[in-house]
Amino acid sequence: MLQVRQLKKYFNLGKDRYLKAVDDVTFHVYQGETFGLVGESGCGKSTIGRTIMGLYHKTAGEVIFNDKDVHQLKKEEKTSFHRQMQMIFQDPYASLNPRLTVREIIAEPMEVHQLYRYKQEQNDKVFELLEEVGLNRDHANRYPHEFSGGQRQRIGIARALALDPEFIIADEPISALDVSVQAQVVNLLKNLQKEKGLTFLFIAHDLSMVKHISDRIGVMYLGNLVELTASNALYDNPLHPYTKALLSAIPIPDPDMEEKRERIILEGELPSPIDPPSGCVFRTRCPVAMDICKIEKPTWQEIEQNHFVACHLYKKQEQHTPKVTIGMK
Ligand code: SF4
Ligand code: MG
Repeated sequence: MLQVRQLKKYFNLGKDRYLKAVDDVTFHVYQGETFGLVGESGCGKSTIGRTIMGLYHKTAGEVIFNDKDVHQLKKEEKTSFHRQMQMIFQDPYASLNPRLTVREIIAEPMEVHQLYRYKQEQNDKVFELLEEVGLNRDHANRYPHEFSGGQRQRIGIARALALDPEFIIADEPISALDVSVQAQVVNLLKNLQKEKGLTFLFIAHDLSMVKHISDRIGVMYLGNLVELTASNALYDNPLHPYTKALLSAIPIPDPDMEEKRERIILEGELPSPIDPPSGCVFRTRCPVAMDICKIEKPTWQEIEQNHFVACHLYKKQEQHTPKVTIGMK
């Protein structure tokens, strides 16, 4: 459904200096799945989301959505694209206009797209959406400040659903919420996905919740995708040293297990995307960096089926010999 190919987004800072927010990123999102995009803040996840939406011009590469290049759409194609792809934002406090009622907030996209001729139809759709996100019609005439963080995010979700989109980019939709309400919002998104057949690009800064919601996960570091595979494979068999560190930071509820497990603490700060390290971008913090990591940028390789990684520790086998099991059924 969505193909991001060798996407680059550099911000020009003048005097020949560039902030390399997204540097050669390739991934696909299949219809109906949730693709998780994970990495520390400042690694380029939100920039990818905004570039996919066409909110930023790309520097290089392609974004193909339903077989069309998002950055080459004609005027009438843009309207339909904006109906098909919507975004949920991180901060439910900042993303809702405080001067509008909930009804006005949710109805705004419908008005922009002139979806309904009659006010009553539009109101009915607003009520329907409120119920779908676990609120009710009595909430329609209230203002955002009258709601909790979790409720506000529900309003943001209702707004994103107003045009019946197929694809939703959720940019850290739960990071600003209390842990107690995070699971509720995740469950709501999962249920909506099932009911409406939605496809999600789910952006997050750690792996704890993404694990439960994603079918596949891409791990980003400093503008680069470093590992990509199915959710289970990433947890059971992480390959990239950065993924291993991210996984080791997820708290385990069982205290005995928590005591035994090995935590990988990354030394140092995230380098600046204006002046990224030579070779492997992760090398300044990688616990197992080698000499070659400084000189050569690791290539993006499919090490196992559908398991991609960019790291010099792994070498692709030229020929895959299928395993033959004799005498077993
Ligand atoms: Fe570490 Fe080298 Fe792999 Fe980069 S390429 S993650 S520095 S081992
Ligand atoms: Mg962000």
